[in-house]
Amino acid sequence: MGMNCNLKKRFYSEDEAKNAAIKYSQIFFSKELLGYYKCNIHRCWHLGHTQTDIPYHIRIQRLIDSIDSNQ
Ligand SMILES: [Zn+2]
Repeated sequence: MGMNCNLKKRFYSEDEAKNAAIKYSQIFFSKELLGYYKCNIHRCWHLGHTQTDIPYHIRIQRLIDSIDSNQ
């Protein structure tokens, strides 16, 4: 992968990355939630746009669903 993620913050679990994405979107009052993806180089998770072709609204819906299921 050509993307330089050496300087990106590393999260060691999906939940950690997800929670950070939610927190950042609240801090910046962003209408768009940050995505997060697993990095095979660092064996961790980074925040950023995912490299899949899943439509954005579906990713958000999955995120929302996963939050609800934790309660
Ligand atoms: Zn990485």
